[in-house]
Amino acid sequence: MTEALDRQALASLLQRPELRRLLEVFNDGGEETRVVGGAVRNALLGRPVTEVDCTTTMLPDAITERAKRAGFKAVPTGIEHGTITVIIDGEPFEITTLREDVETDGRHAVVHFGRDFVRDAKRRDFTINALSLGRDGQLYDYTGGESDLAARRVRFIGEARTRIREDYLRIMRFFRFHAEYAESDPDAEGLAASGAERQGLAILSKERIRHELLKLLVATRAEETIRILADHGFLTGLLGGVAEFGRLRRVANDDRDNPVAIWRLAALAVLVEEDAERLREELRLSNDEHKKLAAYAGLLNLLKSWPLPLDATAIRRLVADHEPEALGIVFAATAGEPSPVVHEDAREALARYLSRTEPVPIFPLRGADLVEGGVPKGPKIGEMLARGRQAWLAEGCRTDESYARDLLRRVLKQA
Ligand code: ATP
Ligand code: MG
Repeated sequence: MTEALDRQALASLLQRPELRRLLEVFNDGGEETRVVGGAVRNALLGRPVTEVDCTTTMLPDAITERAKRAGFKAVPTGIEHGTITVIIDGEPFEITTLREDVETDGRHAVVHFGRDFVRDAKRRDFTINALSLGRDGQLYDYTGGESDLAARRVRFIGEARTRIREDYLRIMRFFRFHAEYAESDPDAEGLAASGAERQGLAILSKERIRHELLKLLVATRAEETIRILADHGFLTGLLGGVAEFGRLRRVANDDRDNPVAIWRLAALAVLVEEDAERLREELRLSNDEHKKLAAYAGLLNLLKSWPLPLDATAIRRLVADHEPEALGIVFAATAGEPSPVVHEDAREALARYLSRTEPVPIFPLRGADLVEGGVPKGPKIGEMLARGRQAWLAEGCRTDESYARDLLRRVLKQA
């Protein structure tokens, strides 16, 4: 159900002391500065506002100078496109000089600085992203953003196809914002234009696509929107492999309060280790992100062919070797599938490891124990430890001292 917009939230936003000081300093001497974009959109929706971006008639040098005079810290975080980050009492604000596009090629824009709020609004992507808010509480809407926001509708400013050709990333952003803010079907014109211009995504950098795709994955309606992407022929190009919608849906239901993009990506697009490799390359994933996908693939395959129903003992063994978090995602993703079969006590055990109320078992022997027991240093030590570890896993990963002593004795005897 569509709800009304929260005008009162705009007033509350303007009451924030740091923002008040900022707007006071930067609305003086014939200059005008407003809050713009996501902060205005989210306030009106009654959603949390975490980042406040502003747009101003002042040029970057003047922003810096005035900030310093007022005792604020100013960092030139995006000076080439006119952005200075001004920090007031620890809170950062991105302040950008009003701009207009003079040239676009589908991925970069040549911009001129200007003093015109209307032009600045019209170069933005969607109507709901182009609202601005004056210091006095006046809401400026040059593109019909307010009614689209009230209707929870993501619509391009101007002609969708033209806007996409200026910057093909807007296709990804169209779906990303749809997934986060829309409540019905995607805007027909935007959808048709995105489909028609699909091949344009190929000229973009993988980093930019990755950024939007990972944001889409944690959006409220991620699964539905990913299905739309699939129906319109986008998914193979983006993921290059299978798409497990049901698994994504289950993981997304489970992690709703704290979604993690990389785990949702795993559920959606990883079946085997090769998928993790390909996605690392395609989406320029970090080592850590890749490690998570690989861990998911390894566990998925292990558990898919696990011979028995999983109980608490099996979980103890599994978490000795594998990231408990990855195990939790595999369980969530495969819930309702014929395998693995997971007993209730297994779920409870995993919950204890995940919440750290029970420590993950750690193999109790080290090389030094064997050396002390008379084994000469060398490759033999590693082999013996590996064999000991196998026994330890098979015997339930006990960590008490008497067990450790007994295990050491057996390992030494074998040698
Ligand atoms: P989020 O809360 O997800 O960060 P946001 O609205 O702040 O949402 P950003 O991607 O941070 O989104 O962009 C900030 C603003 O800049 C947008 O609201 C939009 O007005 C404008 N913008 C960003 N990228 C583009 C683009 N590719 N084309 C046109 N306008 C854009
Ligand atoms: Mg933002």
